[in-house]
Amino acid sequence: MTQPTIETRSFQAHTKKLLDLMIHSIYSQKDVFLRELISNASDAIDKVRFEALTNPDLATDGKIKLVPDKAGRTLTVVDNGVGMTYEEVIEHIGTIAKSGSEAYAEKLKELGKDAATPDLIGQFGVGFYSAFIVSDEVTLETCKAGEANGVRWHSRGDGEYTIARIPPHAHGTRVTLHLRAEAAADEDALPDLDGDFTDPWTLRKVVKKYSDFIAYPIVLDVEKHEVERDAEGKAVPNGKTETTVIEETINSQKALWTRAPAEVTTEEHNEFYKHLTHDWSSPQQTLHFRVEGTQEFIALLYVPEKAPMDLYAREQKRGLQLYIKRVFIASDVKELIPEYFRFMRGLVDSSDLPLNVSREVVQQDAVVARIKKTVTTKLINFFKDLLAKDRTAYEKFWEEYGQAVKEAFHYDPAMKDKIADLLLVKTTRGESWSTLAEVIERMKEGQESLYYLTGEKFDVLREAPQLEVFARKEVEVILLGDAVDEIFVGTLEKYRDKELKSAARGELDGLPESAEDKVKQQEQAGKYEKLLVKLKELLVDDLADVRLTTRLTDSAACLVADEGGMSAQMERMLAQMGQAIPAQKRILELNPDHAVIDAMCQLADKPGTEDQLKDFGEMLVDQALIAEGSPLKHPARFAKRVTETMARAATSA
Ligand code: ADP
Repeated sequence: MTQPTIETRSFQAHTKKLLDLMIHSIYSQKDVFLRELISNASDAIDKVRFEALTNPDLATDGKIKLVPDKAGRTLTVVDNGVGMTYEEVIEHIGTIAKSGSEAYAEKLKELGKDAATPDLIGQFGVGFYSAFIVSDEVTLETCKAGEANGVRWHSRGDGEYTIARIPPHAHGTRVTLHLRAEAAADEDALPDLDGDFTDPWTLRKVVKKYSDFIAYPIVLDVEKHEVERDAEGKAVPNGKTETTVIEETINSQKALWTRAPAEVTTEEHNEFYKHLTHDWSSPQQTLHFRVEGTQEFIALLYVPEKAPMDLYAREQKRGLQLYIKRVFIASDVKELIPEYFRFMRGLVDSSDLPLNVSREVVQQDAVVARIKKTVTTKLINFFKDLLAKDRTAYEKFWEEYGQAVKEAFHYDPAMKDKIADLLLVKTTRGESWSTLAEVIERMKEGQESLYYLTGEKFDVLREAPQLEVFARKEVEVILLGDAVDEIFVGTLEKYRDKELKSAARGELDGLPESAEDKVKQQEQAGKYEKLLVKLKELLVDDLADVRLTTRLTDSAACLVADEGGMSAQMERMLAQMGQAIPAQKRILELNPDHAVIDAMCQLADKPGTEDQLKDFGEMLVDQALIAEGSPLKHPARFAKRVTETMARAATSA
């Protein structure tokens, strides 16, 4: 071979600008350069292994070696990947990945020249060039399999690079960084740096941080010093020390998620989950899938055994880990999963995002938004399947996380029908969980709507006077005791053509009714008219209306909201959230079949009984409030009235 010709070339203008920024960068995460170089090496191995499918000569195990040289102040990253030809080096290394640099230049234009802060660099895919964050000189030597020559590329990052042909070597690439002095020394200025990039300890740490799951071994030569020992194994004083060099693999290579989902065992998942979450228990469910086509990503999602204590705290850490082509990018990426599935742990590994994507970019990125959409759909289908196939497991999941899932009605009303399929509810029928479909299946003939009652506690709800008519007519009522249930019923409105109606609101139509009932109601309407008019007048400050009810059998009275009105539960919820509640007047419903109401009816016919009627009316309101679990305006006054009434009854007995 003749003397190698060294060609000197210039970078394009914006490449130069970018390089300049990089070199003078105070970019906070300097160690990302290693992530970039390892990722390139891993991609190159992926490629050669792909080519080996058709050319068995290229069969390669794949290895990435880090060669630090403390004295020479260099770090070399060596791979046995596909390598590059002379032209490819000019094309790929001589220009910064087009999309990245152009986007960067555009952003600079948009923000004005002065905005050219080093932080901006992190937002764009500048891969290989991140080497200049820590180096003042970079040499790349590469050889493509079957090529007559290798290639050496060299640059000081000063706007020019040289390129020359060199004798061939085994396929692969070695990138040597001449580390800048401050990249090793000034620890204060480098918060992410624990020391020196020629130090094995630092390298191990950085690899663990970003590249642990790279599928190929990342190795490092380490010296082992063996002191001379006597027959009993004790160190010989002033004995010889034997130094051997061993190749240590510093990544775990456990890119579990890249394997075919069916091939990963439960034990492997459990171990990986624990590693990922630092949880001691194994997950109760695992969802592992790969999306291919217009979108390309892998998701590995786990449902933890128990909900975290802070599931409902605003500042709870949530979100998934984001990997890009097996390289760790960030944890707690909220943008990957909807709020109502925030209890899920796991990761997404995307093939569509640029490696250098920053958190700011992730927040607005369309690719990320699409991933979230797909993850959401997959999760909903997964839970739907689980509900159909393993009711016990599903009920366990629901008891732990159902309350969070119901928040979907608030955060994502568009999904309401799909989420409604996942709901489990308790009803007046007993302790067991039912789906809404099951409640519909059990509906009585003539029943048109699904009835529900919201409240704070199941025990109180079960005994609510508003349920009496439903018990009499054997109509099942859904009992909702979670804070979010008001939002769920308000948003859902209908399930499979059946309207959701509050058992404690509006008139009760749509319930099966006999002809006899109707006749009786008409008679009672006439008999009680006077009492109703009087009570309405006397209690006008507190009530919107007083009317007879068909709701009650045992209790004398209950309070209901108007059709469009706010339920007692909603009022309590808003009050707890510190929201101003507009004065809500409710409707007092009286049970015409109750002895007290009958006695009051007779009282209303007599003159001069207004005070007593008012007293009774207020007591009915108070006891209705107690029965539904609402606080009284004047509890002491109520207690006094009850004891007075008792005293009177006792004396007259
Ligand atoms: P990106 O990896 O985002 O494409 P880089 O600047 O990191 O951008 O790399 C540009 C290109 O250079 C790569 O796409 C690849 O074709 C080539 N390249 C970089 N490093 C290597 C390597 N170690 N082996 C083979 N090719 C490489």
